[in-house]
Amino acid sequence: MKIGFIGLGNMGGPMAANLVKAGHAVTGFDLAAPMPEGVTKAASAAEAATGADVVITMLPNGAILRAVAAEVIPAMAAGAVLCDCSTVDVESARAVADQAAAAGLGALDAPVSGGVGGAAAGTLTFMVGGSDAAFATVKPLFDIMGQKAVHCGAAGAGQAAKICNNMILGVTMIATCEAFALADKLGLDRQKMFDVVSTSSGYSWSMNAYCPAPGVGPTSPADNGYKPGFAAELMLKDLRLSQQAAEAADADTPMGQLAAALYTSFVEAEDGKGRDFSAMLPRFEKRGRG
Ligand code: NAD
Repeated sequence: MKIGFIGLGNMGGPMAANLVKAGHAVTGFDLAAPMPEGVTKAASAAEAATGADVVITMLPNGAILRAVAAEVIPAMAAGAVLCDCSTVDVESARAVADQAAAAGLGALDAPVSGGVGGAAAGTLTFMVGGSDAAFATVKPLFDIMGQKAVHCGAAGAGQAAKICNNMILGVTMIATCEAFALADKLGLDRQKMFDVVSTSSGYSWSMNAYCPAPGVGPTSPADNGYKPGFAAELMLKDLRLSQQAAEAADADTPMGQLAAALYTSFVEAEDGKGRDFSAMLPRFEKRGRG
């Protein structure tokens, strides 16, 4: 396939490289990032999109996605598919899908989980919103860049799945960290805490697969000085998107709201920026109730 790829940063770069390795012709555009080997450099986003069967975007946020979409949609051939893999707000995803449809194009919102490691290894999970036809067109590319693609529903459904998942993740990570800090103060050994909770009803991905306590459970960023992994500011971005969506849909999400507030102070007023999101544990360790 002929692929245009816009946004070749930490995630987009290795994703585009995997498409090249699989034999696809990829033309890329980025304001700053270098082109991975084998990706042809375009002078603009519109140039990267011209003549492409599929245009993939991997950009920082919804405002940038809207600006790039406004530039590439007029350059794309009828029947081509615009596939956004960024994590953005549901409203931007739906607005871009509407504009693409009005221009006779297919559109998918296809945010990912799996992080930079998953992007490099080609093991991402894609959560996809859009038509069956557009999903079928891009599915072979999802299979190269990832290990799983779930077609979640119509436009916006992929972003909805992503922010709901990450709202659960943020909340359970905080709950796991505060419970470890309480266990410390109660004199409970951390390994014993892990042994019990990881096989009891308090278990979760945060405890079992990504344990925030160093030296306990599987190897995780806690064992590497809380170097990300999944940075606290990226968790904050996703929690804010969940609260923006909850506001727009009039959904009551008190735990998500509190998680967003805690990660806001962790990133903006404490030492959370640039640290893994599981570094909430040392944050709680240092604190009392006051
Ligand atoms: P990044 O900042 O490394 O990459 C974004 C790239 O977009 C940069 O290279 C930037 O130069 C480029 N860009 C910005 N504006 C542009 C424009 N107008 N035209 C062309 N290029 C432009 O970010 P990333 O870590 O690759 O994340 C990309 C997206 O993936 C984000 O939406 C993020 O939330 C999501 N995501 C990231 C991770 C992760 O672990 N990094 C995991 C899941 C999802």
